[in-house]
Amino acid sequence: MNNNIFCFFCKRNKNQVLCLINNNNIYICNYCIKNFYKKYKNEYIEKDVINNNKNFILKLKNKIKYPKNIKKFLDYYIIGQENTKKIISVSIYNHLKRLLYYYNNINKKENIEIDKSNILMIGDTGTGKTLIAKTISKILKLPFVIVDATVFTEAGYVGEDVESILTRLLQISNYNINLTEIGIVYIDEFDKLSRKSSNPSITRDVSGEGVQQSLLKLFENSTIYISPFIGRKHPEQNMIPIKTNNILFIVGGSFEGINNIIKNRMNINNNIKIGYNKVKKKIYKNKNYLKYITIKDLHKFGIIPEIIGRLPIITYLNKLDKKNLKKIMIEPKNALIKQYIELFKIDNIEIIIDNSFIDIIVNKAIKLGLGARGLKHICEKIFIEITFNIKKNKKIKLNKNKIYKILKKI
Ligand code: ADP
Repeated sequence: MNNNIFCFFCKRNKNQVLCLINNNNIYICNYCIKNFYKKYKNEYIEKDVINNNKNFILKLKNKIKYPKNIKKFLDYYIIGQENTKKIISVSIYNHLKRLLYYYNNINKKENIEIDKSNILMIGDTGTGKTLIAKTISKILKLPFVIVDATVFTEAGYVGEDVESILTRLLQISNYNINLTEIGIVYIDEFDKLSRKSSNPSITRDVSGEGVQQSLLKLFENSTIYISPFIGRKHPEQNMIPIKTNNILFIVGGSFEGINNIIKNRMNINNNIKIGYNKVKKKIYKNKNYLKYITIKDLHKFGIIPEIIGRLPIITYLNKLDKKNLKKIMIEPKNALIKQYIELFKIDNIEIIIDNSFIDIIVNKAIKLGLGARGLKHICEKIFIEITFNIKKNKKIKLNKNKIYKILKKI
């Protein structure tokens, strides 16, 4: 490079700067780039980003059109859970409208603040809570993270701080703050954060109520300063401000025991004892009490009222019966059986699966009591045997007899 070249703007020459960028023989130095960035950042760059986000959401909203289309998409992946799918479809639709309103009115003083509708999903393990959250992120194409509530502790105690949720979201968004600020977070095992005891104890409940208190900051419309990396914070580290007002939080958990809280409130156990009414008892036994859940029940379970207030949409998932488990094996876009068929195709093997084969797996899964998770568990065991024994055959027939033979071995 010629030594006589200099920055067109500040006239520093090559030796006085770190770099000079050339465009048609007009040079600009690193200092001027930095100064221009600082000066025009707010005016142009942020405007540009806001427009990008706004256009992105507008396109998405136009593509989706109606809540029913979200439900249709959910139907490809999720069997049953009709009520939850309906509620979620409307909530996601409203979330998009809310984001649009936000970007349309960002600098207007008189705009109304439309509250975010975070979602609480209650249901047994393996009923599809995580799957629903994952499918939503597929529809929205927004940054999405799944975290497990049990890893968190109150700030200052051994364990992960809840702020690390935002760091994960930032990382998944490739450190794009604007995308991070409209991301989606799914917190699994949320019920494990319930207050450990109803009495304020001497020892602090740092992994239960303490975490709930910390999460409040995230759920509320606030700006949180986070470290760009997960782990210990360094005093000299540059902290990044993240606004949480547009981040959608979905939390899920099995809330084991909440059925009894609901029944007690409804006085159902007493009725049965006094009446000795077997028919009544049977009806109540098969009922899903979660549909009667109230805020009071959640509070009694150990969720603090402030958090409940930040989760205005409460939905429950039904237990999966035989019919639904069978459908899960074969119908969804990425159904287990479809996956195995594709895997065997790579070896040029066609697998022909009999109904009786699926029925046995479903019956075993019901006994395991892990919902649809049990299906995968049993299938893996069986298909390990089948895959281990593959030869040059072009077809493998899987029926009742075959499965019994395999089950004897494992
Ligand atoms: P959880 O309710 O414990 O979060 P998951 O959503 O993680 O359950 O379900 C585990 C797996 O079981 C999913 O990856 C999916 O393959 C299957 N599954 C569970 N529920 C359903 C459902 N309603 N429809 C289709 N597949 C399901």
